[in-house]
Amino acid sequence: QYRSGSDIRETFLRFFETKGHRRVHSSSLVPANDPTLLFTNAGMNQFKDVFLGLEHRDYSRATTSQKCVRAGGKHNDLENVGFTRRHHTFFEMLGNFSFGDYFKPDAIAYAWEFITSASWLCIPTDKLYVTIFKGENGVPRDEEAYNLWLAQGVPAERIHEYGSKDNFWQMGDTGPCGPCSEIFYDMGIEAAETPGVDKPFGQDDARYVEIWNLVFMQFDRDAQGTLHLLPKPSIDTGAGLERMAAVLQGVHSNFETDLFTPLIKRAAELCGIRNTYFVGDGQGAAPRAIPPGEVEKINLAHLIQNASLRIISDHARAATFLISDGVLPANEGRGYVLRKILRRGIRHGRLLGQDKPFMRDMVYVVRDEMEGAFPELVESADRVARVIEAEERQFGRVIEAGSQQLDTALSEAAYGHFFRVASQYSQNQPAPRPNAAIEALARQYAGFFTRRQEKLGTASELAWAGLFDPKAVRDLVQLLDSSKPVLSGTTAFHLYETFGLPLDFMMDAARDQGIHFDLEGFEQARAEEQARARASWKGGAKSSASPAFRELPKTDFEGYMHLRVDGAEVL
Ligand code: ATP
Ligand code: MG
Ligand code: MG
Ligand code: MG
Repeated sequence: QYRSGSDIRETFLRFFETKGHRRVHSSSLVPANDPTLLFTNAGMNQFKDVFLGLEHRDYSRATTSQKCVRAGGKHNDLENVGFTRRHHTFFEMLGNFSFGDYFKPDAIAYAWEFITSASWLCIPTDKLYVTIFKGENGVPRDEEAYNLWLAQGVPAERIHEYGSKDNFWQMGDTGPCGPCSEIFYDMGIEAAETPGVDKPFGQDDARYVEIWNLVFMQFDRDAQGTLHLLPKPSIDTGAGLERMAAVLQGVHSNFETDLFTPLIKRAAELCGIRNTYFVGDGQGAAPRAIPPGEVEKINLAHLIQNASLRIISDHARAATFLISDGVLPANEGRGYVLRKILRRGIRHGRLLGQDKPFMRDMVYVVRDEMEGAFPELVESADRVARVIEAEERQFGRVIEAGSQQLDTALSEAAYGHFFRVASQYSQNQPAPRPNAAIEALARQYAGFFTRRQEKLGTASELAWAGLFDPKAVRDLVQLLDSSKPVLSGTTAFHLYETFGLPLDFMMDAARDQGIHFDLEGFEQARAEEQARARASWKGGAKSSASPAFRELPKTDFEGYMHLRVDGAEVL
């Protein structure tokens, strides 16, 4: 049965209400009194003091759908976005909590009932796996959880055991802690890391997706590291709403769910992707441009294949909710993370051909989709859009002069990489291909590569060119993947010094496009430049300008305004 994201959220909260839980509204993304935490990153954050016994509430069971951002600090999924199907910077964590009330038996029984029972989510049990704590560092194996899962009917071979890294939770070096159990869903062999290759649980992160984490707070760790049993153990659980939606909507990726598709479509419209997006048919046919005005006719799956659209959709949600909760773009702390998120979104808009403000328009789609659960967006949307637009305009000026050059440099890096790999490969073949043909193909590859088309597009492009047969294409793709194109440090330094492109912006751009950024070379070029500047300073006014500055074109130097804060490179 199809269930919308909103329906799943509501069903979850209602289920736990029937089990005596108080429905509590999500807390702000800016943690109320926890300066150690960058952003709220889990449902339990707002209850931290309750778990510690420092605060008392008039309920001992609660359920929430908590706004979370994992884009910095201990949990950082920023760099996963665009690359995995299951990570977002902003997501909703559904949770149920027991403050010294029920413990392991009920927590496990509730979770299993909710996801498998015919009256609730009705997920087939043969798609599910669970994990338990195997015991480590003097803490015993979680026998109790193992037996409770067995009692629910989970076959022993579907209960896997892991150590502290995955299955032991702690609030800090001291304080409440305990083992956890995670529930995974098998997306099927078509969703495998290498499609069609059947790998068992634990060896394929794309296929087996963690949907729910149950934390059993049963110990208190003292300053010596000794664990004491808590007199009243507690429960903290977290389930990703977007992942649940993917499971229940029968899709492999969170980005294919109704929580994302309106955003992806709108991003495609706003960025003029209709004109720039090319679709191969995967069979080696020539790609074709999508004519204007036909976004509705495009197979959504093709749009979702585009990493830039996924990144923009994700970052629009994060930026909207962060600003709505009071964060403003800045050069340090929370505001700096927000700025990075916005700038990455802006960068991907440009990759799709949009250099005017567009992220501000995404705000209203986020509001329309989410105002039911988060009514605060109704009131904040206009303010949020203004903040985003200001950032888009300001940053647009900073990168105006340099972003074209950066694109050229990245695409040259991809070109060189392809050319080297393909010509070497071709030379080892019985019939080497003509150089000019490889050059032409390298140009095409560079275009695809730097526009972040997925591998499939690249491979079918190669086949389409008729230069290599399908097996050779597979070999070549593998070779291309086994090393990375490099953006040289000298080139990057030139862009930095001449056009004022921020260092971390270039690093992000390179990484997003699978290009290695030669930071060492960059630092060296910078050191040399500083040495030259010092030398020429001593040598008097005659040659005081460095070579790079002598070549300076007429540019707007606003980019230098925020280059350093407390001596640290931030922009
Ligand atoms: P993963 O191993 O997949 O990164 P996690 O173990 O880091 O997940 P938890 O800290 O256990 O995640 O959070 C509880 C639940 O929240 C997860 O089981 C998952 O469903 C969801 N979740 C965690 N991180 C993300 C994210 N970046 N985007 C979307 N959902 C997430
Ligand atoms: Mg994680
Ligand atoms: Mg995990
Ligand atoms: Mg987990």
